[in-house]
Amino acid sequence: MSVLSNRARSLKPSPTLAINAKAKAMQAQGIQVISFGAGEPDFDTPQNIRAAAIRAIEEGFTKYTPVGGTDELKDAVIKKFQRDNGLTYKRSEIIASCGGKHSFYNLAQAIFDAGDEVIVPAPYWVSYPPMVALAGATPVIVETKEENGFKLSMEDLKKAVTPKTKALIINSPSNPTGSAYTKEDLERIAGMALSHHFFVISDEIYEKIVYDGFKFISMASLSEEIRKRTIIVHGVAKTYAMTGWRIGYTAGPEEIISAMSNIQSQSTSNPTSIAQKASVEALAGSQEEVFKMVSAFEERRNYIIDRLNKMPGVSCFKPIGSFYVFPNFSSYYGRSYQGKKISNSTELADYLLDVARVAAVPGVEFGADPFVRLSYATSMEDIKEGLNRIEEALKKLF
Ligand SMILES: *Cc1c(COP(=O)(O)O)cnc(C)c1O
Repeated sequence: MSVLSNRARSLKPSPTLAINAKAKAMQAQGIQVISFGAGEPDFDTPQNIRAAAIRAIEEGFTKYTPVGGTDELKDAVIKKFQRDNGLTYKRSEIIASCGGKHSFYNLAQAIFDAGDEVIVPAPYWVSYPPMVALAGATPVIVETKEENGFKLSMEDLKKAVTPKTKALIINSPSNPTGSAYTKEDLERIAGMALSHHFFVISDEIYEKIVYDGFKFISMASLSEEIRKRTIIVHGVAKTYAMTGWRIGYTAGPEEIISAMSNIQSQSTSNPTSIAQKASVEALAGSQEEVFKMVSAFEERRNYIIDRLNKMPGVSCFKPIGSFYVFPNFSSYYGRSYQGKKISNSTELADYLLDVARVAAVPGVEFGADPFVRLSYATSMEDIKEGLNRIEEALKKLF
Protein backbone atom coordinates (compact mmCIF):
# COMPACT_ATOMS: atom_id res chain seq x y z
CA MET A 1 0.00 0.00 0.00
CA SER A 2 1.49 3.36 -0.93
CA VAL A 3 1.80 6.07 1.67
CA LEU A 4 0.06 8.70 -0.41
CA SER A 5 -3.41 8.64 -1.87
CA ASN A 6 -3.92 8.48 -5.62
CA ARG A 7 -5.38 11.94 -5.26
CA ALA A 8 -2.25 13.38 -3.68
CA ARG A 9 0.07 11.60 -6.09
CA SER A 10 -1.80 12.97 -9.09
CA LEU A 11 -1.26 16.57 -7.97
CA LYS A 12 1.65 18.87 -8.51
CA PRO A 13 2.03 22.18 -6.72
CA SER A 14 0.63 25.33 -8.31
CA PRO A 15 3.28 26.32 -10.91
CA THR A 16 2.79 30.03 -10.36
CA LEU A 17 3.55 29.67 -6.67
CA ALA A 18 6.54 27.42 -7.53
CA ILE A 19 8.12 29.97 -9.91
CA ASN A 20 7.80 32.67 -7.29
CA ALA A 21 9.44 30.44 -4.73
CA LYS A 22 12.40 29.84 -7.08
CA ALA A 23 12.74 33.58 -7.81
CA LYS A 24 12.63 34.35 -4.09
CA ALA A 25 15.29 31.72 -3.37
CA MET A 26 17.58 33.33 -5.99
CA GLN A 27 16.93 36.74 -4.46
CA ALA A 28 17.84 35.37 -1.04
CA GLN A 29 21.22 34.37 -2.53
CA GLY A 30 21.76 37.97 -3.55
CA ILE A 31 20.84 37.49 -7.23
CA GLN A 32 18.75 40.42 -8.42
CA VAL A 33 15.79 38.74 -10.03
CA ILE A 34 13.02 40.82 -11.55
CA SER A 35 9.80 39.01 -10.96
CA PHE A 36 6.97 39.04 -13.46
CA GLY A 37 5.73 35.88 -11.80
CA ALA A 38 3.52 37.27 -9.07
CA GLY A 39 -0.20 36.84 -9.29
CA GLU A 40 -0.86 39.59 -6.81
CA PRO A 41 -0.96 43.39 -6.71
CA ASP A 42 2.27 45.04 -5.53
CA PHE A 43 0.29 47.66 -3.57
CA ASP A 44 -0.33 47.56 0.16
CA THR A 45 -3.83 46.82 1.36
CA PRO A 46 -5.52 50.26 1.60
CA GLN A 47 -5.30 51.98 4.96
CA ASN A 48 -9.04 52.04 5.74
CA ILE A 49 -9.16 48.25 5.31
CA ARG A 50 -6.13 47.66 7.53
CA ALA A 51 -7.68 49.92 10.18
CA ALA A 52 -10.92 47.91 10.14
CA ALA A 53 -8.93 44.74 10.85
CA ILE A 54 -7.03 46.36 13.71
CA ARG A 55 -10.31 47.56 15.16
CA ALA A 56 -11.73 44.03 14.90
CA ILE A 57 -8.80 42.68 16.91
CA GLU A 58 -9.01 45.43 19.54
CA GLU A 59 -12.74 44.89 19.91
CA GLY A 60 -12.29 41.16 20.42
CA PHE A 61 -13.88 40.07 17.15
CA THR A 62 -11.63 37.04 17.24
CA LYS A 63 -13.98 34.08 17.71
CA TYR A 64 -15.76 31.65 15.41
CA THR A 65 -18.31 33.23 13.12
CA PRO A 66 -21.10 31.47 11.22
CA VAL A 67 -19.52 28.95 8.79
CA GLY A 68 -20.39 30.83 5.61
CA GLY A 69 -19.43 34.26 6.95
CA THR A 70 -21.13 36.90 9.09
CA ASP A 71 -24.43 38.45 8.07
CA GLU A 72 -22.56 41.74 7.98
CA LEU A 73 -20.15 40.43 5.32
CA LYS A 74 -22.93 38.72 3.35
CA ASP A 75 -24.86 41.99 3.36
CA ALA A 76 -21.80 43.86 2.08
CA VAL A 77 -21.49 41.28 -0.72
CA ILE A 78 -25.21 41.59 -1.49
CA LYS A 79 -24.86 45.39 -1.70
CA LYS A 80 -21.86 45.05 -3.97
CA PHE A 81 -23.80 42.87 -6.43
CA GLN A 82 -26.74 45.28 -6.30
CA ARG A 83 -24.58 48.38 -6.76
CA ASP A 84 -22.15 47.07 -9.38
CA ASN A 85 -24.09 44.44 -11.29
CA GLY A 86 -27.79 45.14 -10.69
CA LEU A 87 -28.06 41.66 -9.17
CA THR A 88 -30.29 40.87 -6.19
CA TYR A 89 -29.22 38.02 -3.94
CA LYS A 90 -30.47 36.77 -0.58
CA ARG A 91 -28.15 35.84 2.26
CA SER A 92 -28.91 32.17 1.59
CA GLU A 93 -27.43 32.60 -1.91
CA ILE A 94 -24.06 33.90 -0.66
CA ILE A 95 -21.14 32.15 1.06
CA ALA A 96 -17.76 33.55 2.08
CA SER A 97 -14.76 31.20 1.99
CA CYS A 98 -11.00 31.30 2.58
CA GLY A 99 -10.11 32.99 -0.74
CA GLY A 100 -11.55 32.76 -4.23
CA LYS A 101 -9.60 29.57 -4.77
CA HIS A 102 -11.31 27.98 -1.80
CA SER A 103 -14.67 29.23 -3.09
CA PHE A 104 -14.01 27.43 -6.36
CA TYR A 105 -12.76 24.31 -4.59
CA ASN A 106 -15.87 24.02 -2.43
CA LEU A 107 -18.08 24.67 -5.41
CA ALA A 108 -16.38 21.87 -7.37
CA GLN A 109 -16.81 19.53 -4.41
CA ALA A 110 -20.47 20.53 -4.15
CA ILE A 111 -21.55 20.01 -7.76
CA PHE A 112 -19.15 17.64 -9.57
CA ASP A 113 -19.15 13.87 -9.63
CA ALA A 114 -17.20 11.20 -11.46
CA GLY A 115 -18.42 11.13 -15.05
CA ASP A 116 -19.23 14.84 -15.19
CA GLU A 117 -17.50 16.88 -17.84
CA VAL A 118 -16.49 20.46 -17.19
CA ILE A 119 -15.54 22.67 -20.10
CA VAL A 120 -12.45 24.77 -19.43
CA PRO A 121 -11.40 27.23 -22.15
CA ALA A 122 -7.62 27.50 -22.58
CA PRO A 123 -5.58 29.49 -21.73
CA TYR A 124 -7.05 28.82 -18.28
CA TRP A 125 -6.24 29.72 -14.71
CA VAL A 126 -3.85 27.00 -13.52
CA SER A 127 -6.07 25.78 -10.71
CA TYR A 128 -9.26 24.98 -12.65
CA PRO A 129 -8.31 21.61 -14.15
CA PRO A 130 -6.82 20.16 -10.94
CA MET A 131 -9.74 21.34 -8.81
CA VAL A 132 -12.22 19.81 -11.27
CA ALA A 133 -10.21 16.58 -11.26
CA LEU A 134 -9.98 16.51 -7.45
CA ALA A 135 -13.78 16.46 -7.41
CA GLY A 136 -13.63 13.37 -9.66
CA ALA A 137 -14.90 15.12 -12.80
CA THR A 138 -13.17 15.44 -16.16
CA PRO A 139 -11.89 18.81 -17.38
CA VAL A 140 -12.58 19.19 -21.11
CA ILE A 141 -10.10 21.72 -22.44
CA VAL A 142 -11.27 23.87 -25.37
CA GLU A 143 -8.64 26.02 -27.00
CA THR A 144 -9.18 29.64 -27.86
CA LYS A 145 -7.13 31.65 -30.33
CA GLU A 146 -5.06 34.77 -29.92
CA GLU A 147 -6.57 36.22 -33.12
CA ASN A 148 -10.07 35.85 -31.61
CA GLY A 149 -8.96 37.75 -28.51
CA PHE A 150 -8.65 34.44 -26.62
CA LYS A 151 -12.43 34.15 -26.54
CA LEU A 152 -14.34 30.91 -26.79
CA SER A 153 -15.89 30.41 -30.22
CA MET A 154 -19.43 29.12 -30.33
CA GLU A 155 -18.49 26.40 -32.84
CA ASP A 156 -15.75 25.09 -30.54
CA LEU A 157 -18.04 25.25 -27.53
CA LYS A 158 -20.78 23.40 -29.37
CA LYS A 159 -18.34 20.65 -30.37
CA ALA A 160 -17.25 20.21 -26.75
CA VAL A 161 -20.74 19.95 -25.25
CA THR A 162 -22.05 16.43 -24.55
CA PRO A 163 -24.92 15.13 -22.42
CA LYS A 164 -22.33 14.81 -19.61
CA THR A 165 -21.42 18.50 -19.64
CA LYS A 166 -22.14 19.76 -16.15
CA ALA A 167 -20.57 23.19 -16.37
CA LEU A 168 -18.50 25.68 -18.33
CA ILE A 169 -15.94 27.84 -16.57
CA ILE A 170 -15.45 31.39 -17.76
CA ASN A 171 -12.98 33.88 -16.36
CA SER A 172 -13.51 37.39 -17.62
CA PRO A 173 -11.30 39.41 -17.41
CA SER A 174 -8.91 36.52 -17.74
CA ASN A 175 -5.84 35.34 -15.97
CA PRO A 176 -3.53 34.80 -17.91
CA THR A 177 -4.53 36.59 -21.15
CA GLY A 178 -6.34 39.75 -20.02
CA SER A 179 -9.12 38.94 -22.47
CA ALA A 180 -12.70 39.85 -21.50
CA TYR A 181 -16.17 39.02 -22.81
CA THR A 182 -18.61 41.67 -23.97
CA LYS A 183 -22.33 41.51 -23.23
CA GLU A 184 -22.96 40.03 -26.69
CA ASP A 185 -20.33 37.32 -26.17
CA LEU A 186 -21.89 36.42 -22.84
CA GLU A 187 -25.38 36.30 -24.34
CA ARG A 188 -24.23 33.73 -26.88
CA ILE A 189 -22.65 31.60 -24.16
CA ALA A 190 -25.76 31.95 -21.97
CA GLY A 191 -27.89 30.75 -24.87
CA MET A 192 -25.79 27.58 -25.11
CA ALA A 193 -25.92 27.01 -21.35
CA LEU A 194 -29.70 27.28 -21.32
CA SER A 195 -30.34 25.12 -24.36
CA HIS A 196 -27.86 22.42 -23.27
CA HIS A 197 -28.66 22.64 -19.54
CA PHE A 198 -25.21 23.19 -18.12
CA PHE A 199 -24.06 25.56 -15.38
CA VAL A 200 -21.78 28.52 -15.96
CA ILE A 201 -19.15 29.12 -13.34
CA SER A 202 -18.22 32.75 -13.75
CA ASP A 203 -14.94 33.72 -12.09
CA GLU A 204 -15.28 37.49 -11.79
CA ILE A 205 -12.30 38.17 -9.55
CA TYR A 206 -10.83 40.73 -12.02
CA GLU A 207 -14.13 42.57 -12.50
CA LYS A 208 -12.73 45.91 -11.31
CA ILE A 209 -9.38 45.71 -13.06
CA VAL A 210 -10.40 46.77 -16.58
CA TYR A 211 -9.02 49.36 -19.00
CA ASP A 212 -9.98 51.75 -21.79
CA GLY A 213 -13.41 52.23 -20.23
CA PHE A 214 -14.39 48.59 -20.79
CA LYS A 215 -17.82 47.88 -19.32
CA PHE A 216 -17.80 44.72 -17.25
CA ILE A 217 -20.98 42.66 -17.40
CA SER A 218 -21.72 39.79 -15.04
CA MET A 219 -23.03 36.62 -16.69
CA ALA A 220 -25.71 36.29 -14.00
CA SER A 221 -27.14 39.72 -14.79
CA LEU A 222 -28.24 38.84 -18.34
CA SER A 223 -31.57 37.25 -17.43
CA GLU A 224 -33.39 35.52 -14.60
CA GLU A 225 -32.99 32.15 -16.37
CA ILE A 226 -29.22 32.40 -16.68
CA ARG A 227 -28.90 33.72 -13.14
CA LYS A 228 -30.34 30.40 -11.93
CA ARG A 229 -27.70 28.55 -13.94
CA THR A 230 -24.74 30.77 -12.97
CA ILE A 231 -22.46 30.54 -9.99
CA ILE A 232 -20.26 33.60 -9.47
CA VAL A 233 -16.89 33.09 -7.85
CA HIS A 234 -15.40 36.33 -6.58
CA GLY A 235 -13.17 37.74 -3.88
CA VAL A 236 -11.39 40.74 -2.44
CA ALA A 237 -7.81 39.59 -3.18
CA LYS A 238 -7.13 41.28 -6.52
CA THR A 239 -9.35 44.38 -6.33
CA TYR A 240 -8.21 45.48 -2.88
CA ALA A 241 -4.65 44.11 -2.79
CA MET A 242 -5.77 41.62 -0.14
CA THR A 243 -4.25 38.35 -1.36
CA GLY A 244 -2.96 37.40 2.08
CA TRP A 245 -6.25 37.98 3.87
CA ARG A 246 -7.96 34.99 2.23
CA ILE A 247 -11.53 36.05 1.64
CA GLY A 248 -13.45 34.86 -1.40
CA TYR A 249 -17.18 34.63 -1.93
CA THR A 250 -19.66 32.76 -4.08
CA ALA A 251 -23.14 33.74 -5.24
CA GLY A 252 -25.53 31.22 -6.72
CA PRO A 253 -28.58 29.02 -6.27
CA GLU A 254 -29.44 28.37 -2.62
CA GLU A 255 -29.19 24.58 -2.99
CA ILE A 256 -25.58 24.84 -4.17
CA ILE A 257 -24.57 27.47 -1.61
CA SER A 258 -26.06 25.37 1.17
CA ALA A 259 -24.08 22.29 0.02
CA MET A 260 -20.90 24.38 -0.09
CA SER A 261 -21.62 25.53 3.44
CA ASN A 262 -21.91 21.89 4.61
CA ILE A 263 -18.58 21.06 2.99
CA GLN A 264 -16.99 24.12 4.55
CA SER A 265 -18.46 23.25 7.96
CA GLN A 266 -16.59 19.93 7.85
CA SER A 267 -13.30 21.37 6.67
CA THR A 268 -12.19 24.94 7.34
CA SER A 269 -15.29 26.31 9.12
CA ASN A 270 -15.54 30.09 8.81
CA PRO A 271 -12.92 32.20 7.07
CA THR A 272 -10.90 34.36 9.49
CA SER A 273 -13.12 36.66 11.54
CA ILE A 274 -10.68 39.58 11.31
CA ALA A 275 -10.35 39.28 7.53
CA GLN A 276 -14.14 39.25 7.27
CA LYS A 277 -14.30 42.62 9.06
CA ALA A 278 -11.61 43.98 6.74
CA SER A 279 -13.55 42.70 3.72
CA VAL A 280 -16.71 44.49 4.85
CA GLU A 281 -14.72 47.73 4.81
CA ALA A 282 -13.20 46.82 1.42
CA LEU A 283 -16.57 46.19 -0.21
CA ALA A 284 -18.64 48.86 1.51
CA GLY A 285 -16.07 51.58 2.19
CA SER A 286 -14.40 54.10 -0.08
CA GLN A 287 -13.42 52.71 -3.49
CA GLU A 288 -10.95 55.51 -4.19
CA GLU A 289 -7.81 53.38 -3.79
CA VAL A 290 -9.13 50.89 -6.33
CA PHE A 291 -9.26 53.59 -9.00
CA LYS A 292 -5.69 54.61 -8.20
CA MET A 293 -4.41 51.06 -8.44
CA VAL A 294 -6.25 50.39 -11.69
CA SER A 295 -4.92 53.54 -13.32
CA ALA A 296 -1.38 52.53 -12.32
CA PHE A 297 -1.97 49.10 -13.86
CA GLU A 298 -3.28 50.69 -17.04
CA GLU A 299 -0.19 52.86 -17.43
CA ARG A 300 2.05 49.83 -16.97
CA ARG A 301 0.00 47.77 -19.40
CA ASN A 302 0.37 50.45 -22.06
CA TYR A 303 4.11 50.57 -21.61
CA ILE A 304 4.68 46.82 -21.50
CA ILE A 305 2.49 46.04 -24.49
CA ASP A 306 4.24 48.67 -26.57
CA ARG A 307 7.70 47.35 -25.67
CA LEU A 308 6.79 43.70 -26.24
CA ASN A 309 5.23 44.30 -29.63
CA LYS A 310 8.37 46.15 -30.72
CA MET A 311 10.58 43.16 -29.94
CA PRO A 312 11.42 41.18 -33.08
CA GLY A 313 9.44 37.94 -33.29
CA VAL A 314 7.21 38.74 -30.32
CA SER A 315 3.50 39.46 -30.52
CA CYS A 316 1.23 40.31 -27.63
CA PHE A 317 -2.53 40.61 -27.30
CA LYS A 318 -3.54 43.91 -25.67
CA PRO A 319 -5.24 43.04 -22.39
CA ILE A 320 -8.65 44.49 -21.59
CA GLY A 321 -8.36 43.63 -17.91
CA SER A 322 -6.47 41.82 -15.10
CA PHE A 323 -2.75 42.53 -14.62
CA TYR A 324 -1.07 40.07 -16.96
CA VAL A 325 0.24 40.08 -20.49
CA PHE A 326 0.54 36.86 -22.46
CA PRO A 327 3.11 37.41 -25.20
CA ASN A 328 3.72 34.84 -27.91
CA PHE A 329 7.42 33.89 -27.96
CA SER A 330 7.06 30.78 -30.09
CA SER A 331 9.11 32.18 -32.96
CA TYR A 332 12.11 31.68 -30.65
CA TYR A 333 11.39 28.00 -30.08
CA GLY A 334 13.97 25.94 -31.91
CA ARG A 335 16.71 28.51 -31.33
CA SER A 336 19.68 27.88 -29.06
CA TYR A 337 21.93 29.51 -26.52
CA GLN A 338 25.45 28.13 -26.00
CA GLY A 339 24.45 24.93 -27.75
CA LYS A 340 21.35 24.45 -25.66
CA LYS A 341 18.11 24.42 -27.59
CA ILE A 342 14.94 26.09 -26.37
CA SER A 343 11.95 24.20 -27.62
CA ASN A 344 8.98 25.21 -25.46
CA SER A 345 7.65 27.71 -22.93
CA THR A 346 9.12 25.88 -19.94
CA GLU A 347 12.60 26.00 -21.43
CA LEU A 348 12.15 29.63 -22.42
CA ALA A 349 11.04 30.57 -18.89
CA ASP A 350 14.04 28.68 -17.47
CA TYR A 351 16.29 30.52 -19.89
CA LEU A 352 14.81 33.88 -18.92
CA LEU A 353 15.30 33.12 -15.25
CA ASP A 354 18.86 31.80 -15.61
CA VAL A 355 20.22 34.23 -18.20
CA ALA A 356 18.02 37.34 -17.96
CA ARG A 357 17.20 36.87 -14.27
CA VAL A 358 13.58 37.53 -15.00
CA ALA A 359 10.86 35.32 -13.56
CA ALA A 360 7.88 34.54 -15.78
CA VAL A 361 5.41 31.67 -15.92
CA PRO A 362 5.52 29.30 -18.91
CA GLY A 363 2.34 29.30 -20.98
CA VAL A 364 2.11 25.52 -20.95
CA GLU A 365 0.93 25.77 -17.34
CA PHE A 366 -2.12 27.64 -18.63
CA GLY A 367 -2.61 25.17 -21.48
CA ALA A 368 -0.97 27.37 -24.15
CA ASP A 369 2.67 26.56 -24.90
CA PRO A 370 3.46 29.33 -27.44
CA PHE A 371 3.14 31.92 -24.66
CA VAL A 372 4.68 33.11 -21.41
CA ARG A 373 2.78 35.00 -18.74
CA LEU A 374 4.20 38.23 -17.36
CA SER A 375 2.49 39.95 -14.45
CA TYR A 376 2.75 43.73 -14.41
CA ALA A 377 1.72 43.97 -10.80
CA THR A 378 5.20 45.27 -10.15
CA SER A 379 6.86 48.70 -10.25
CA MET A 380 7.36 50.64 -13.49
CA GLU A 381 11.07 50.66 -12.74
CA ASP A 382 11.19 46.87 -12.56
CA ILE A 383 9.03 46.56 -15.66
CA LYS A 384 11.49 48.71 -17.64
CA GLU A 385 14.53 46.84 -16.38
CA GLY A 386 12.85 43.45 -16.82
CA LEU A 387 11.90 44.19 -20.42
CA ASN A 388 15.44 45.41 -21.17
CA ARG A 389 16.74 42.12 -19.85
CA ILE A 390 14.26 40.06 -21.86
CA GLU A 391 15.13 42.00 -25.01
CA GLU A 392 18.84 41.38 -24.47
CA ALA A 393 18.32 37.70 -23.71
CA LEU A 394 16.24 37.16 -26.85
CA LYS A 395 19.05 38.66 -28.95
CA LYS A 396 21.39 35.95 -27.70
CA LEU A 397 19.25 33.19 -29.17
CA PHE A 398 20.25 31.83 -32.56
C1 LIG B 1 -6.22 35.10 -7.94
C2 LIG B 1 -7.35 34.38 -8.61
C3 LIG B 1 -8.40 33.78 -7.89
C4 LIG B 1 -8.57 33.74 -6.40
O1 LIG B 1 -7.59 34.15 -5.62
P1 LIG B 1 -7.68 34.05 -4.03
O2 LIG B 1 -6.38 34.63 -3.61
O3 LIG B 1 -7.82 32.62 -3.67
O4 LIG B 1 -8.86 34.86 -3.59
C5 LIG B 1 -9.42 33.18 -8.60
N1 LIG B 1 -9.40 33.14 -9.93
C6 LIG B 1 -8.42 33.68 -10.64
C7 LIG B 1 -8.49 33.60 -12.12
C8 LIG B 1 -7.35 34.30 -10.02
O5 LIG B 1 -6.36 34.82 -10.77
